[in-house]
Amino acid sequence: MSTVVNTAAEASPTSPAPVPFLDLRAQSAEIADEVLQSWREQLLAAAFVGGAEVEAFENEYATYIGTAHCVGISNGTDALELAYRAVGVGPGDEVIMPGNTFSATAEAASRIGAVPVFVDVDEEHLLIDPDAAAAAITARTRAIVPVHLFGQTAPVELLRPLAAKYDLAIVEDAAQAQGASGPAGRAGTLGDIAATSFYPGKNLGAAGDAGAVTTDDPGLAAKVRMLQAHGSLVKYEHEQVGVNARLDAVQATFLRAKLRRLEAWNEARRRAAAAYADLLSDIAGVRVPSPRSGNTDVWHLYVTRVNGRDRIVDQLRTAGIGTGIHYPTPVHLTSAYAHLGYRRGQLPVAEAAARSLVSLPMFPHLRLEQQIVVRDAVRAAAVLCEPTREGRRA
Ligand SMILES: *Cc1c(COP(=O)(O)O)cnc(C)c1O
Repeated sequence: MSTVVNTAAEASPTSPAPVPFLDLRAQSAEIADEVLQSWREQLLAAAFVGGAEVEAFENEYATYIGTAHCVGISNGTDALELAYRAVGVGPGDEVIMPGNTFSATAEAASRIGAVPVFVDVDEEHLLIDPDAAAAAITARTRAIVPVHLFGQTAPVELLRPLAAKYDLAIVEDAAQAQGASGPAGRAGTLGDIAATSFYPGKNLGAAGDAGAVTTDDPGLAAKVRMLQAHGSLVKYEHEQVGVNARLDAVQATFLRAKLRRLEAWNEARRRAAAAYADLLSDIAGVRVPSPRSGNTDVWHLYVTRVNGRDRIVDQLRTAGIGTGIHYPTPVHLTSAYAHLGYRRGQLPVAEAAARSLVSLPMFPHLRLEQQIVVRDAVRAAAVLCEPTREGRRA
């Protein structure tokens, strides 16, 4: 028998074990047997694109989320693009979205010649601000995109009256919120249509790229299904210029196995978030996130806001602790969108947050001992970054 040495978890007597930002190995270990068995069967049956596994996953995910339809898609960005197209977003149309999102929310609109319109977010939760969205509506606006950021649920219920009044579609970006729910229901069921991503690091992660569109509307579901398969529902009958954005059977198998564990894993994330809130609450200069009332968060990311962010990130790295910044530059200020002419200061809340936020290690198998290591390192780093009489040092 050989000894399995897990280097990342190896402890030395003098320094604490490093804590990775994200560790998916325990998830893989839990599902390895059943996935390998099923992959072997698929390999021998040579069933690769679409088919029974994909259909089974689509049905199971729709049931889990609580929508009538789910269409498996190649990745989250394609899912967003097809969701936008399904609700009628076309060239020159404006799509309102928060400035602090992953760039794919905007990219998917740009790819179809539409124009992303970036708006600010609320200070407490960093979710799309309904008043800012209202102020951005023009005659060209076709859709609003609530992004369920960090595992929270955006206030879709406050956007609905707006969408109804101006005849706009609501397209949810649910890439970071599989299983999250708000006062009006689960993320992915709250708008006209939703796109999600199963990129490996998401709460429900594939063994590569994957995504899905969910909706209650059979017409929108059929449209996405048609567009994703070369604009064709019946082989070789092409109704529209579509794309190839199908989900592979190998991903569906992997996702089915993980979906069965998603509730338990989301619950483990909630426990870890509660532990962080306790551990970090008395550290000056560190602001911990708090759930929006009526929300069940799934804590895709644990995003704190700190004084002297860059210095704290450096200190944590030195202590062997992984962190993330989601996101260092709001999309409206990235080079990719320089042509839209946004200026610094236009989305003050999103911009200020980008300077102070830091995401701490968060994944279902994160252990309390690891969180204590993080707490100790954050406390040591925060002391160095405390504002002094001469002003802030960091
Ligand atoms: C991950 C992500 C996407 C894109 O998904 P991919 O599968 O990587 O294409 C879109 N929006 C948000 C908010 C995301 O976090």
